Amino acid sequence: MPTQRIYYEDSHARTFEGVVTACEPGKAGYRIALDRTCFFPEGGGQYGDRGSLRTPSGEIISVADTREREGVIWHSGDKPLPVGSPVTGELDWELRFARMQCHTGEHIVSGLFHRLYGLENVGFHLGDEEMTIDLSGGVTWAQAQEVQRLANRGVAEDVPVSCAVPPPEELARLEYRSKLALTENVRIVTIPGYDVCACCAPHVKRTGEIGLIHLAGIQNWKGGVRIRMLCGSRAVADVMAKQNQISAISALLSAKQEGAAQAVERLSGALETAKHRAAQLGKALAERKAEALPQGERCLLLFETLDTAALRTLVNAALDRDTGLCAAFAPEGDRFQYIIGSGQTDLRPLVKEMNGTLRGRGGGSAQMVQGSVQAGRREIEAWWNTVVNKS
Ligand SMILES: [Zn+2]
Repeated sequence: MPTQRIYYEDSHARTFEGVVTACEPGKAGYRIALDRTCFFPEGGGQYGDRGSLRTPSGEIISVADTREREGVIWHSGDKPLPVGSPVTGELDWELRFARMQCHTGEHIVSGLFHRLYGLENVGFHLGDEEMTIDLSGGVTWAQAQEVQRLANRGVAEDVPVSCAVPPPEELARLEYRSKLALTENVRIVTIPGYDVCACCAPHVKRTGEIGLIHLAGIQNWKGGVRIRMLCGSRAVADVMAKQNQISAISALLSAKQEGAAQAVERLSGALETAKHRAAQLGKALAERKAEALPQGERCLLLFETLDTAALRTLVNAALDRDTGLCAAFAPEGDRFQYIIGSGQTDLRPLVKEMNGTLRGRGGGSAQMVQGSVQAGRREIEAWWNTVVNKS
């Protein structure tokens, strides 16, 4: 027998009285069916409701999810219930209301994208962290922001959200958005001036309940775009978290909040200049060091700071000068990077041994090897004195 869906009659019903009509073991816990429920089952991109069922003796059965199979709504409970038992159901209302805010906000936003830019909503996901809408075509961020502005005007207008199942002849005349080609018992959700859409989920009663509608990002997605959005309490939490970020960024940059992006741009330019200058200085230092290297000998050079390009310049110059073996090390994070060159010795057995002893990685040709080791200055010097200098 199909379950009576209280949320169709009253989306704001939080508690109800029902009777257990079936109970069977599920994947986790038990699947419990009732004669009537205000729990919305998973569907249309929205997760199933959570909450609890209480028996007359006061036993509480926790409901972690709700699903529908062939008209019957199944509650995922953590304990079994006898068929015929009366129960009092209670929704996790905070969660359900946040979902209704998000879901109804999505109607307004999708309706506006459809009306203004002729785009279809081809995908919808309403998770507990994030809601996404996939649109059938391209949208600029400026266009999305225009939709956001109009959508929030729709909230301020506090228009009623109505749900009805029109008779077939009326449905045939009606223009509405729909993902499925249904012809009978189609539930039409109407938000005057914003959206007319076939939908089976619960919604808020008036748009004012949605609160803030906040578009958080846009990315290209399968020939169209995916829009990240939040509504109501979730939107407010997101705006507050981002305000904390911009406040911290502007304080770190000693810049006004509205000028933070330009300040980051300036900082990024200054960093590039400093990197370029450091690279030039490193190269000059490497060339000076190379000039002083003795010919035909083995040299270990441990630097406080030097980039890879400068290490390579140094080792190349050492090879040009016929230095017997030149090993150059410089710190990189919590490791030391190395480049070792030799015109006389095959370096491959040496680097294999070194990587084993100094927890390193890397390799190369007989004449030049490159990589890094998980070792400090003293360990590298000890390895050099015991392995290289004594061989
Ligand atoms: Zn809906």
